[in-house]
Amino acid sequence: MDPGQLQTSILTRGREFFAALGNETPSIFKKNYWTGKVMDWSMSHEDFKVQLFRFIDVLPYLSTEEMLNEHIQEYFARDENVPAVLRFGAKSAGIGGRLGMKVVGKTIRKNLENMALQFIIGNTIPETIKNLGKLRNKNFAFTLDILGEATVSEKEADLYAKNYMHLLEGLQQAQSNWAVLGRANSTLDWGHSPKVNISIKPSALYSQINPADFKGSVGHILDRLKPVYRKIVELNGFMCIDTEMRKYKEITFELYRRLRSDSEFKGYPHLGLAMQVYLKNSDRDIDLMLEWARLQHLPISIRLVKGAYWDYEIVVARQSGWSIPVYTNKAETDAAFERSAEKILRNHDICHLACASHNVRSVCSVMELARSLEVPDDRYEFQVLYGMAEPFRNALMKMTGRVRLYCPQGELLPGMAYLIRRLLENTSNESFLRQTFVEGRELEELLKAPDASISEAAGKTTEEYAGRSGSQSEFGSFNNHPFADFSIPEVRDAFNDAITETKKKLGRTYPLFIGGKEITTNTTVDSVNPARPDEIIGRVCQAGKEEITDAVSAAQEAFQTWRDTPPRKRAAYLLDAAEIARKRIYELVAWQVLEAGKQWKQAYNDVAEAIDFLEYYAREMVYLASPRYLGHAPGEINEYFYQPKGVAVVIAPWNFPLAISCGMCAAAIVTGNCVLYKPSNQTPVIGHTLLQILQEADLPPGVFNFTPGSGAVIGDFLIDHPQVSLIAFTGSMEVGLRIIQRAGHTPENQPSVKKVIAEMGGKNAIIIDDDADLDEAIPNVIDSAFAYQGQKCSACSRVIVLDTIYDRFIERLIGAVSSVKIGPAEDPANFMGPVIDRSAQKSILQYIELAGQEGTILYCSDVPDEGYYVPITIVNGITPEDRLAQEEIFGPVLAVMRAKDFDQALEWANCTRFALTGAVFSRSPEHLQRCRKEFRVGNLYFNRGCTGANVERQPFGGFKMSGIGSKAGGPDYLLQFMDPHTVTENTMRRGFVPLRSEDKWIE
Ligand SMILES: Cc1cc2nc3c(=O)[nH]c(=O)nc-3n(C[C@H](O)[C@H](O)[C@H](O)COP(=O)(O)OP(=O)(O)OC[C@H]3O[C@@H](n4cnc5c(N)ncnc54)[C@H](O)[C@@H]3O)c2cc1C
Repeated sequence: MDPGQLQTSILTRGREFFAALGNETPSIFKKNYWTGKVMDWSMSHEDFKVQLFRFIDVLPYLSTEEMLNEHIQEYFARDENVPAVLRFGAKSAGIGGRLGMKVVGKTIRKNLENMALQFIIGNTIPETIKNLGKLRNKNFAFTLDILGEATVSEKEADLYAKNYMHLLEGLQQAQSNWAVLGRANSTLDWGHSPKVNISIKPSALYSQINPADFKGSVGHILDRLKPVYRKIVELNGFMCIDTEMRKYKEITFELYRRLRSDSEFKGYPHLGLAMQVYLKNSDRDIDLMLEWARLQHLPISIRLVKGAYWDYEIVVARQSGWSIPVYTNKAETDAAFERSAEKILRNHDICHLACASHNVRSVCSVMELARSLEVPDDRYEFQVLYGMAEPFRNALMKMTGRVRLYCPQGELLPGMAYLIRRLLENTSNESFLRQTFVEGRELEELLKAPDASISEAAGKTTEEYAGRSGSQSEFGSFNNHPFADFSIPEVRDAFNDAITETKKKLGRTYPLFIGGKEITTNTTVDSVNPARPDEIIGRVCQAGKEEITDAVSAAQEAFQTWRDTPPRKRAAYLLDAAEIARKRIYELVAWQVLEAGKQWKQAYNDVAEAIDFLEYYAREMVYLASPRYLGHAPGEINEYFYQPKGVAVVIAPWNFPLAISCGMCAAAIVTGNCVLYKPSNQTPVIGHTLLQILQEADLPPGVFNFTPGSGAVIGDFLIDHPQVSLIAFTGSMEVGLRIIQRAGHTPENQPSVKKVIAEMGGKNAIIIDDDADLDEAIPNVIDSAFAYQGQKCSACSRVIVLDTIYDRFIERLIGAVSSVKIGPAEDPANFMGPVIDRSAQKSILQYIELAGQEGTILYCSDVPDEGYYVPITIVNGITPEDRLAQEEIFGPVLAVMRAKDFDQALEWANCTRFALTGAVFSRSPEHLQRCRKEFRVGNLYFNRGCTGANVERQPFGGFKMSGIGSKAGGPDYLLQFMDPHTVTENTMRRGFVPLRSEDKWIE
């Protein structure tokens, strides 16, 4: 095939295509209709577009007239009237006041629902079948997809699968009445293609789909997918597995392979898979899939798409610290589409191609490639989305005769989410349809070969996406350590391998480390695996008063040099430590899984946060190290700078055993203090890993001393020690207050007043507003309340739900929570594991008993017999006076509170002694604005969970009984570890004053 000739024939075919399109405009862009007007306005007013899409998102939840009108005002009106473009069609244009607004509201709702319905073939099965019949009468084939993606519970996943079964029953009956398309002498459309064709989204078939649990996810989805496919086989239909977000891609591909090669279905060829070419790995993916099909002798059908989650993939990658997985130059995606289409067409003996695009250039290149490669007609077809571009589909039909429409069917609520995707696609600057039908671009430009566009645009987009936020310093900008990407098999393998290897190291004895020397003591404490208390993780030597005295002396001695070590050099130690932790990350994670009972993701995030603290505080120190010059009066120089305090005691908790320990120690060390570190007695082996990292970073002796010990033996002694200048503590309110009290006592021999930094507890609330998106709210509440067994000070322990949405929320919450698995953290299928120890277990069980007395227990899960497990417990009927609403439980117990309105919800959210974290799920701009000021907590989150703060992005910490001190991982944190100094020099000598540019001399 001569490339020049191919291009010429694509151009010729393209011109023919445009001629066939004529002057018709897709209904979505027709400006004499409401939809067209609104689309037009959206494309020229970005702010309006954002508000409109958000309004469409919330619309199905606006169950009353008041809610509807309030939201219209909040989204669009502010001080003016609702924009004319939205009001268009409301007969009340001239009527003012409440009545006018009522009519406007109704009209807007109706118009938007109609807009969504334009993309949906039918709400019910009979309506769907009737409309499919009409499409087939116009010679269009179909593929049906049931709307709805977010299944939060197994009940919902069952329902989704059941809906497919019902739909297939209906189609089975209907298909006998449908004449075949194309050829009359076959029972198949066009002589080869089943009449019934469905598309299915795998993520909707398993509520707990999780890339970390690859095997379990595939297995559970298959359990629901197989009966659907069996039914397809029975009625001689076709099934295509849709591909969704990249994180599920490997699961989806595996589903295809497993189903296609299953002995029950091997002989049945009508199974397809959507593949997205906007993914940079798509060439490799397609090669592998073709190779597999050939090797297995199992012909495949690929629906080639560009991909529908482009913006999502970029945002997720950016937030997770991953490289962007999709092309960022549109021409690269277009080129990949043509490249992949050619590859598939060349393999047409083993692979059928469904070309799914509304782009004339992309489609014509497939037509011409197929022609030049002499691919038979029955080896490829064309697919477009229902309701998307009618003139396009008609022209395509005229030119190819084989067009299948992708028809979503089902309820309006999920239909709105689908509508937003379609609107996003249509209004994007890069959209072919927009460029053709709205911007009226030149034909030559629209038909240009994508490779040509790539070279023109080269460099532009890479530059655009290269910049990363972060505080700049001589060490480069700060970036959070990337999250673990469990969709990568090597990452999953690394977890498994590290856990296996670490198990071989269990039971060792760990000495103290004082003044650069290991010290063994007679007293040791056994640290155990909370999932298997008989399994000893390690034996850790315990410091007594004598060892603490030695450690304080060692720290004091080291301080004399360390305090004057250049801050840059101190920072470099932290960066070395970060590098060591990065290299050992999987091993460090494994210790957390085994000793703290943290799930894979939770454990990884803990280590990642520790690395972040090292990296962030190193840069912050370098920034703070430069003295500031204050004032503008000539004749004097005022320098403002910081110096360390002295010996710091760090008392760390077990719930973030590396991150919090490392954060407090790193801050103390980099600011020039010397540290006595007392890890928690529940996680001392993880504490020892911090020592190993700092040892490997070669900190001078005495700067960091590892002094685990019993609180009862050394706790007060450490705090009371007169040579200790600073205590950094994270833990319970009771212990925190005791430390603050004791540290306030200053005996005569003590050289300085002690500084205490204490991060204490929380009783955090999430408010669920009446317009909250429950698809988002439910998983986030579950994650905030029960991830790591609810043992985070930031965890959600109260969910305050508005009356109007209460019943729906509870039903879905219980459904979702009863779908999660509980068991040892080693198995990634388990969402929740054991609590930290027997005493925690006992205390939480007592609270569960109290829950039954103060409220009604709505849900109490089963738990494994061995290990320190407590059930996930949800209790309702709790009011602010109850202990369940006031006391920190530190376990998986969630109190649900039913508030009559938003005022009450906010009042209740603020009604405890704590003020750590909080969250609000609301789509009311006014309510969110109000919460900014009135929801009084240290870390407030909107429309996301209340845990998972990232260093630098969400500096963490609260006030009231939640703590004293500045936020960890934020710009003020290090200041607490130092004393500020001002030095003023009189620079005038006998009337002579050296001039500085910043001095205010004579106006
Ligand atoms: C029948 C059918 C089934 C489908 N099934 C699926 C499916 O299972 N999974 C799925 O993800 N999608 C699916 N899609 C959606 C499809 O991915 C989008 O509709 C399609 O990407 C739009 O492409 P286009 O060729 O029609 O339009 P074009 O306007 O030519 O392309 C738009 C596409 O280009 C890409 N893009 C946009 N901006 C950029 C940029 N700056 N840099 C790089 N690339 C960019 C995006 O993928 C965007 O969607 C399906 C589409 C059809 C027609």
